[in-house]
Amino acid sequence: MTIDNYKFAGKKAIVRVDFNVPLDENGKITDDTRIRGALPTLKKILNDGGALIIMSHMGKPKGKVNPKFSLKQIVDAVSEKLGVPVQFAPDCAKAADAAAALKPGEVLLLENLRFYPEEEGKPVGIDKEDPAYEAAKKAMKESQKAFAKTLASYADCYVNDAFGTAHRKHASTAVIADYFDADNKMLGYLMEKEVQAVDNVLSDIKHPFTAIMGGSKVSTKIGIIENLMDKVDNLILCGGMTYTFAKAQGGKIGNSICEDDKLDLALDIMAKAKAKGVNLVLGTDCVAADAFSNDAHTQVVPANNIPDGWEGLDAGPETQKAFAAAIKGAKTILWNGPAGVFEFDNFTAGSRAIAQAIAEATKEGAFSLIGGGDSVACINKFGMADQVSYISTGGGALLEAIEGKVLPGIAAIKG
Ligand code: AMP
Repeated sequence: MTIDNYKFAGKKAIVRVDFNVPLDENGKITDDTRIRGALPTLKKILNDGGALIIMSHMGKPKGKVNPKFSLKQIVDAVSEKLGVPVQFAPDCAKAADAAAALKPGEVLLLENLRFYPEEEGKPVGIDKEDPAYEAAKKAMKESQKAFAKTLASYADCYVNDAFGTAHRKHASTAVIADYFDADNKMLGYLMEKEVQAVDNVLSDIKHPFTAIMGGSKVSTKIGIIENLMDKVDNLILCGGMTYTFAKAQGGKIGNSICEDDKLDLALDIMAKAKAKGVNLVLGTDCVAADAFSNDAHTQVVPANNIPDGWEGLDAGPETQKAFAAAIKGAKTILWNGPAGVFEFDNFTAGSRAIAQAIAEATKEGAFSLIGGGDSVACINKFGMADQVSYISTGGGALLEAIEGKVLPGIAAIKG
């Protein structure tokens, strides 16, 4: 079933969204991208005469009620964006009456699903080494099914529009789909768009294809780096992982971030790139700082010769040029992870150079996909979100999709 074919009139739809928005210390939303992302789906259902039961997680409350992660804090914002008052169910597993009372055009937001350990389905308070762990895990899987069944009982149909959690087999993202037949479950618009964007990058790749992988660690990106190696022409590896590569080659990296147990892996990646004819672009110079602070003293030094007491926090000017050269002329571009500690205004130049080169290539006709919370925050910080082809709401989900893995949230609906 698709959202465009389904007749929502007079029906209740339970929609899994990703409203895991960042809040400031007063509980105010600091970035509402994720709420805006789900609006087309939510509005379509309301406009068609359906009633909405919206469910989401927020943060990592680890199976316990924690007011800091209460979705009550976003009720007003969601009401305002949807243009209708939103009712709130303070216990997501005890919302049957509130759901039953919903009339067409009405909206009920359920409290944070992760206040229940059943949402994630991991046994709590028991160590993996404990002999009783396997039994606890089995018992939890059963309670997870019961929890998903309760959520399913609120509605006539299920819509999954939470791409950010599509790589998780949770109660609300996958297990719940077992309680709806194929004619009553579907992906939302955001999910469809995300799947299409990944497809644009992976199928019928237009070359040259340049992938830019940054962020703090190589270990969290290794799966995707290896997968991309067979597809890309240029692979830029930047950010904190630069220094693991520099050290692996015998360089001096001062206090720079480094994964000492991944030095062999770094050399292996370099060898693989060479064997496959991939142009691997690593930083040659960097902006080193004498402290991990925006106000630190800085100097530009070779990325493999950083003085003691200093740490590389951004790509240097020579490196920025090399990055831009590998992006210029590309027809397909994927960017995940910043090239420096972009949260500090004084260390944004590397990421900015990448963003600018991507914007130029996009203007020339490239398809550019930006994903992962930090690269999206980066592009938003530079005010360049409208100059790239597609910004994904998924971090881990996007990477797993590009690695070629089947996402449980999508498989649960599409089979
Ligand atoms: P990740 O979550 O692995 O995508 O990494 C994103 C984080 O990497 C951001 O918070 C950046 O501040 C950080 N990062 C990027 N470059 C560096 C660097 N040279 N040293 C330390 N952290 C970095």
